[in-house]
Amino acid sequence: MSHVVLDRITKRYAGHTALNGVSVSVEQGELLALLGPSGCGKTTLLRCIAGLTGFDGGRLTIGGADMAGVPVRKRPIGMVFQSYALFPNLTVRGNVAFPLTVRKRPKEEVRARVAEMLDLVGLEHLGDRLPNQLSGGQQQRVALARALSPRPEVLLLDEPLSALDAQVRHRLRDEVRRIQHQVGITTVFVTHDQAEALAISDRVAVMNAGDIEQCGPPAEIYTAPSTRFAAGFVGNRNTLELDAVAGRVTAGGAFDVEAPAPRVLCMFRPEDVELAKDGPGARAVVDVTVFLGATTRVYAQAGPSVIFADVPSRAAAGLSPGDEVRLRVAADHVQVFPA
Ligand code: ATP
Repeated sequence: MSHVVLDRITKRYAGHTALNGVSVSVEQGELLALLGPSGCGKTTLLRCIAGLTGFDGGRLTIGGADMAGVPVRKRPIGMVFQSYALFPNLTVRGNVAFPLTVRKRPKEEVRARVAEMLDLVGLEHLGDRLPNQLSGGQQQRVALARALSPRPEVLLLDEPLSALDAQVRHRLRDEVRRIQHQVGITTVFVTHDQAEALAISDRVAVMNAGDIEQCGPPAEIYTAPSTRFAAGFVGNRNTLELDAVAGRVTAGGAFDVEAPAPRVLCMFRPEDVELAKDGPGARAVVDVTVFLGATTRVYAQAGPSVIFADVPSRAAAGLSPGDEVRLRVAADHVQVFPA
């Protein structure tokens, strides 16, 4: 049985449905990312698991136990929010000890556990500092140590890295993953950042308008989005709206795929566009090239559309605006949806 089971959870606010019958399970030790745009309901779902928000319909179990009527403090969870929410008057050690001292754990146990937690998050040397003497990244490590110190069964993280600058955010993202693995704790991680969701999780649940559109491992979400929304939200994609001819779409020879409707949306990634000087494919004219390091992004005008392609910089070296090129995309790299 899955560790956390959400079964058809619905939540309404005056005249507005925030969660529309969401079902998803999290396995023991798994990290599930809830990914979606602002307002899709991911925070509401996390708060329902925590017991901070009640829901109108559905069922939630943790470790097989129904959470109906179980207050926040009795749930086997630890939480970290975007704002560090540390106690400003307590030292790092005091913050991490807090959940244990309120539970009246013996002093020796508290001391040992705090030392273990500070070691886990790499802050042994800062135990006597106050929160305002720490960087944002350090404060978030303390928040994580505090959430984990009472050994919760489930860790809930609500955009814990959003307030940090890019470099710190990336480092701490990998660090959160390492710590989660090491502790082996079942985790739900809310984010609107698709790169973060793909990098950190075992599975990603893509949310839209109060529902989960697709749930699967990062590679599957990235390469095989099952809905138009998931395809558009995760990663960069070219999107062409095209008419089918005899049940197929060909995009001027760039690809040849079956059409599920007379008018369709074709979506494909820039790294899946093959670009050649001649040969088969759709004719296009180079508009702009943008050097990105290992790859170069080439914008090319193909009929009425501008296509962008990410090609190895070595292959793009000879290209200039105005050059004629051929574009091809392998059929299995094109996602097709009814327009
Ligand atoms: P964000 O990333 O912006 O936090 P989110 O995906 O986490 O977005 P939620 O905060 O879960 O979204 O909100 C889902 C929907 O429910 C939104 O339309 C929001 O306006 C609405 N909502 C959330 N909390 C309340 C509330 N207390 N009262 C009324 N509506 C609410």
